[in-house]
Amino acid sequence: MTVDLRSDTVTKPTDGMLEAMWSAEVGDDVFGEDETVNALEEKAAAMFGMEAAIYCPSGTMTNQIAIKCFTQPLDELIADQTAHVYRYEGGGIAFNSGVSTRLLNGYRGIITPEMIAPEINDDNIHYPHTSLVVLENTVNKGGGSCYTLEHIKPIAALCKAKGLKLHLDGARIFNALAHTGDKPTDYGTYFDGISVCLSKGLGAPVGSILLADKATIKYARRLRKVLGGGMRQAGFLAAAGIYALDHHVERLKIDHKHAQILAEELGKQSWVTNVVPVETNIILFDTVEPAEKVLARLEAKGIKANSTDTHRIRFVTHLDVHAEQVEYVITSL
Ligand SMILES: *Cc1c(COP(=O)(O)O)cnc(C)c1O
Repeated sequence: MTVDLRSDTVTKPTDGMLEAMWSAEVGDDVFGEDETVNALEEKAAAMFGMEAAIYCPSGTMTNQIAIKCFTQPLDELIADQTAHVYRYEGGGIAFNSGVSTRLLNGYRGIITPEMIAPEINDDNIHYPHTSLVVLENTVNKGGGSCYTLEHIKPIAALCKAKGLKLHLDGARIFNALAHTGDKPTDYGTYFDGISVCLSKGLGAPVGSILLADKATIKYARRLRKVLGGGMRQAGFLAAAGIYALDHHVERLKIDHKHAQILAEELGKQSWVTNVVPVETNIILFDTVEPAEKVLARLEAKGIKANSTDTHRIRFVTHLDVHAEQVEYVITSL
């Protein structure tokens, strides 16, 4: 048996999803004529109570477009030091937007208004102009840790009071919502922009959505074109996104359950020194031996995973990790 726990991006389209893709009505989306893309954008915007949406090839693109929309060159944004927008988007904040980044040390990537407030620069020509705060939910490098709406409200209030925009890197927002029970429509009222990945736990092969108001999305269409992200008959892909939103949101709870079970078993192993408490579908654990050695042994049993540090391994559960595979991993451990 093989079990791929490297990432929730490795999922392959299900039969139902493939069926939806084959039968999609398509047109030229750069002309705004692909009705499946339009339907996906309308559906996602409505789900989050936002005015408009744009479908993009990747979450990196939706985040980078949002940052560009919400800043001017010479500005500064505030984010946690683990933030995907800073660490894993190739330096795009500086390259695409000419913006510097002020990093905070949150707890498992979660930052608070008390941490943000002192880092907002005064209006002084020596300082970059602070214009944006970026939150991530769930926090990838935090091990799938979650903000609740109660964490977010005071941050949104601070941003409003200081005239800052607030963007959510919601690559795994539906995992966060499954854990906290918060409603997506509430998010629309607190954020200026929201990125949602369809190709992570939701299981679509490609695609992310950026949600914002109409004026922002209008400018985002220009930016997407500049970045080479204008796709033509993209409805074949967007159909997978619609299918994912209809069929793969509720089931995220199964992935979370599997992650809990695996974490519990890992906690019993003599070769594991620490398991970070699991909130969603990401498990981080530390090993006595170097992670590389443990990974090689797992690989020999057909179990793929990644290390995130010399003695730290990450497992991610997803759509293609079924109950039998969880059992197999437990036996193998
Ligand atoms: C995966 C991910 C993204 C976007 O990644 P792409 O591979 O560009 O789609 C953004 N933020 C977080 C937290 C992610 O995990």
